[in-house]
Amino acid sequence: MSVHSRPVLAANWKMNLTPAEASSFLDAFLNRYAPRDDRSVILFPSALVFAGVRDRVQPRSDIRLGVQNVSTEEKGAFTGENSAAMAAGAGASFVLVGHSERRHAFGETDVQVAQKCARVVAHGLVPMLCVGETIEQRERGETAEVVLHQLRTGISMLDRAAVRDIMIAYEPVWAIGTGRTATPGDASDVHLVIRAALAGIVGEEARAIPLLYGGSVNAKNAAELLAAPEVEGLLVGGASIDPVQWAEICGR
Ligand code: PEP
Repeated sequence: MSVHSRPVLAANWKMNLTPAEASSFLDAFLNRYAPRDDRSVILFPSALVFAGVRDRVQPRSDIRLGVQNVSTEEKGAFTGENSAAMAAGAGASFVLVGHSERRHAFGETDVQVAQKCARVVAHGLVPMLCVGETIEQRERGETAEVVLHQLRTGISMLDRAAVRDIMIAYEPVWAIGTGRTATPGDASDVHLVIRAALAGIVGEEARAIPLLYGGSVNAKNAAELLAAPEVEGLLVGGASIDPVQWAEICGR
């Protein structure tokens, strides 16, 4: 199965689910969600829970794994950090890069996001580059400018072939964890802008890059968001740690 079977349904567990909780989650989720080859399911557990989840989903080749963050650095004296090499060695296929919580709560800069994308690609992993505007930026009419700046700087250290292999998640900051979802039209509008910019960089091959929407997605609104033009997947936080809701989202 192609890693890019669409839609791409990605679960960002953030700093939730202990090893025991992740195990209960998987008991419930794997029972409810049977393998399907017409979509891609990706779980992003915390680094400490990663190996347990990996071992547990090992018989399920339809479920791929990623990590939520890696260091900009290759290795060395960076206490508390995890490297792209560690993620690759542990069995990750994807890395979230530039999530708004990293940008806003940890002060991650555009340059660091670009360095992380490059580091991730150098280790054979796929960056899922997150972009999105704040409510103030949206109200000032700066959405396209902000998102395109984050996109262009995020991929600035990648060559054309690497750009073709990434994934993009459009996540308006005002919609993350707030219960306020972008309308399918809002999501489509921004996805079209992103697609056009990618086409300007990699031409026709831009179609190969899955564009995901994220921000307060749940089992109720997932279908209409997925039906919106240019929305080819979902990155889900809160609803993805509820196995029943996540199985419903994946099973649509
Ligand atoms: C996220 O963390 O990427 C996210 C979209 O969170 P939530 O679904 O909780 O808004």
